[in-house]
Amino acid sequence: MYQHHWLDGSPTTWPAGKVVCVGRNYAAHARELNNPVPTEPILFLKPATAMAFMAEPLQIPANKGAVHFETEMALLIGKPLTCASESEALAAIAGVGIGFDLTLRELQDQLKTKGYPWETAKAFDGSCPLSAFLPIATKTAPDWANIDIAMYGNGDLRQQGNSGDMLTPVARLLAHISTIFTLLPGDVVMTGTPAGVGPLHSGDQLTAQLSYLGQQLISTTAVVAA
Ligand code: ZN
Repeated sequence: MYQHHWLDGSPTTWPAGKVVCVGRNYAAHARELNNPVPTEPILFLKPATAMAFMAEPLQIPANKGAVHFETEMALLIGKPLTCASESEALAAIAGVGIGFDLTLRELQDQLKTKGYPWETAKAFDGSCPLSAFLPIATKTAPDWANIDIAMYGNGDLRQQGNSGDMLTPVARLLAHISTIFTLLPGDVVMTGTPAGVGPLHSGDQLTAQLSYLGQQLISTTAVVAA
């Protein structure tokens, strides 16, 4: 059973809540999928059952078409947020990690064409593998507009991004989300993927990393077909 945990391996006191994701938060990724760049964040949810330990073998659905990786900075919420200000939103971030927003891309394309919801392509069991979280104390909070993320597949750099390129930056994103969905301790916000998404294959070895001044988080996993 998935439980959020800190970098030292200890579990957090909060249950795994919901995951709030933002689509097309990096212009270059919107363009690579021939999507228009949005003027307001495109939000969708994954249930708690989507979360999985990234360190465990990553099981991808079989026979449902391409399963794409999207490597994203993950924010662990530690305080309730409803209609929050940007400063309240930043003060509620308890941890930062890295995660995958796994996507059944062919199914998602069909759903988009029909105007249907995305959940069956985005919110299935195990669709949100998460690393351990680096704790954020007020004094050690990073510059949220200068966090690097990268993903290597079988040793090759596949995705690279910096949070400074987000269309909706962290504080504004959390404040906006909290006007629609109350965020509770144990919820996770996935902040969107940079360009470079692509399909996973059984046997792939993945390394996701997040870094900012003096702190680095590296999480590795192997892909297996379910
Ligand atoms: Zn995503």
